[in-house]
Amino acid sequence: MKISVEIDELREQIENCLSSIENPTIGFVPTMGALHEGHLSLIKAAREQSDIVVCSIFVNPTQFNNAADLERYPRDLDSDVKLLQENGCDVVFAPTEEVIYPDGEPDYQIDFNGLDQVMEGPNRPGHFKGVAMVVQRLFEIVRPDKGFFGLKDFQQVAILKQMVKIKGLNVEIIPMPIVRSGQGLALSSRNQLLSEKEKELALIIFETLSYGKRIVSECENGHQLQQKMIEFFEAGELELEYLEIVDNDSLQPIDQLRPNISCCIAAYCGQVRLIDNMQFL
Ligand code: AMP
Repeated sequence: MKISVEIDELREQIENCLSSIENPTIGFVPTMGALHEGHLSLIKAAREQSDIVVCSIFVNPTQFNNAADLERYPRDLDSDVKLLQENGCDVVFAPTEEVIYPDGEPDYQIDFNGLDQVMEGPNRPGHFKGVAMVVQRLFEIVRPDKGFFGLKDFQQVAILKQMVKIKGLNVEIIPMPIVRSGQGLALSSRNQLLSEKEKELALIIFETLSYGKRIVSECENGHQLQQKMIEFFEAGELELEYLEIVDNDSLQPIDQLRPNISCCIAAYCGQVRLIDNMQFL
């Protein structure tokens, strides 16, 4: 497995891998590192569905709206490289900020068609613009056929599908299921920042989602379901930022309980912001 920092180096390594394959497909997994089983499930899917697997590790400053969050974001390149090697990744791209943004932060414009106006959008101003900007840049560098993304970041998947559509990129976005701990906590690099006690307290997120899924058929409408779930959540000790029942495609809150809806939660466990979601119907 090869590790590249520069674009020329990366292109050369990809071309070397491709040269022996007829009509090769490139599967790409963009990450911010501090890899866990959630990331590795994407690498495994990319391995199964493509000839060459490229993984990027880049903590993208333009998607952080909070300097302290960027500062304390976990980083461990050596351990990441080892895990990628063990899981069949072919090429690792670990660029510097100068490689990704040689002229500083670009003037990037995009219309997300309202997808950025809900949930994470108002709570993390500029976040999705930063995500779309970096993923588009990485797609242009890596030139993948398929990009693999976790539904842990449910809204991000919708945003990136819109980005690909509106920018006319020839990349298929492949959404992958959420990987959880045995007790249900959605795996996240930020979980490293939680104490053992906090990891237990954080289970209230999964418990609330599971509770909602159990009672959805007894509820009259989205509002009633939302209220019951908030009440359940508030018996725990986390601080709720939002709990929304939304349409899977438009991400708009729904009134009528019907197929194609999910619940999304964001909450603080101490200083650490956690998100999770579950498809309900
Ligand atoms: P990140 O390093 O947090 O930017 O995540 C990189 C990719 O891994 C994104 O597509 C995430 O949605 C995905 N991912 C993170 N955690 C999980 C998880 N628990 N299950 C599945 N995918 C995940």
